[in-house]
Amino acid sequence: MSYRIDTNCIHAGYTPGNGDPRVVPIVQSTTYTYDSSEAMGDLFDLKAEGFFYTRLGNPTLDAVEKKIAALEGGVGALLTSSGQAASLIAVLNICHAGDHVVASNAIYGGTFNLIYKTMQEMGIDSTFVAPGCSREELEAAFRPNTKCVFAETLSNPSLVVTDLELFAEESHAHGVPLIVDNTFPTPINCRPFEFGADIVTHSTTKYMDGHAVQVGGVIVDSGNFDWKNGKFPMFTEPDESYHGIVYAEQFGKAAYITKARTHLMRDLGAQAAPQNAFLLNLGLETLALRMERHCKNAQAVAEYLEKNNKVAWVNYPGLASSPYHELAKKYMPNGTCGVISFGVKGGREAAMRFMDNLKMASVVTHVADLRTCVLHPASTTHRQLTDEQLKEAGIGADMIRLSVGIENIADILEDLTQALEHA
Ligand code: PLP
Repeated sequence: MSYRIDTNCIHAGYTPGNGDPRVVPIVQSTTYTYDSSEAMGDLFDLKAEGFFYTRLGNPTLDAVEKKIAALEGGVGALLTSSGQAASLIAVLNICHAGDHVVASNAIYGGTFNLIYKTMQEMGIDSTFVAPGCSREELEAAFRPNTKCVFAETLSNPSLVVTDLELFAEESHAHGVPLIVDNTFPTPINCRPFEFGADIVTHSTTKYMDGHAVQVGGVIVDSGNFDWKNGKFPMFTEPDESYHGIVYAEQFGKAAYITKARTHLMRDLGAQAAPQNAFLLNLGLETLALRMERHCKNAQAVAEYLEKNNKVAWVNYPGLASSPYHELAKKYMPNGTCGVISFGVKGGREAAMRFMDNLKMASVVTHVADLRTCVLHPASTTHRQLTDEQLKEAGIGADMIRLSVGIENIADILEDLTQALEHA
């Protein structure tokens, strides 16, 4: 039977048999026993499916991976130890030294540094484009050695909505996949595969978990990209480290996600812990409910801030004043997420006074949590960026990132009101 997405948040990925635990259990074991060494050997050669070492697979992780794949509408998923590890593995699975990545310049600061600096040091070049760029500007960023395009559905923290269809069309016209970080809207509010994206990543640390109890990431494969188009020999030529298997032949639509696990997770070892996967699953069970409330509360807060005379500007795609309102309606018709960015009149100092006077909302290096929280991106998550890069990423010195939680809206508004009086 196929279910709707909110039902899948609860039931997908795990169907207990007679007498099995009703809740996805934590399988806290690194290893699994087999009757013969031959059976074990077949697992190592990828001739048979099964668990043999938790770095490559674990029943708790497997259930959560299947749930997230179902939510995004993909053929498979791979949990990682963090969102950073998900971005790294998603790109390294198809880009090697000498290759090139086209990326949106309005992405999470950690991902920006990963692509701009660390990958550059690994020999992978990059060109950054504005997510709101024209088709021609995007076109101009491609090179013959471009192997993927990387963007965020809804950027952290500038809340730019990427025109996913445009990015997917241009990626495909150049024979490369579009990788989309879908952390902020979650599959409840946007499923990028429906708009042509090929690979989706998440920091599950954010809304998917929602309770700030684990750091994690996930990569999801749509199964739609044609890895046999001549640009990706890693899928069409034999992998000697697995006795010459050819991923695209042996794993078909699941070639990308299988290689991410069997090759990169084997070699890099950035797997999620079973305990974290268990906690993440608890979060996923209420994801649909929480996203609905986050969006409702954030819309009310954005409308309130827009009318407050202490506030210089408000950026929330749910506001008609947002330049991304129309794109948001197209890609996220049920709402975007709980994150708002705004500036307080009086710049950086006034922003600091406002934040220091909040009583219920906490100042944390976190976002997309069920508790309302705030952050000053220019001095924290994005502090490595130069002024020019900050400007390009749409992050001003006065910007406050407000992550609206699921508390009672009256309490949230009261807290903001009294803190704004001090700004
Ligand atoms: N992607 C986005 C959109 C994020 O906001 C973050 C972290 O804030 C990451 C990726 C990195 O995830 P993690 O902190 O889980 O490594």
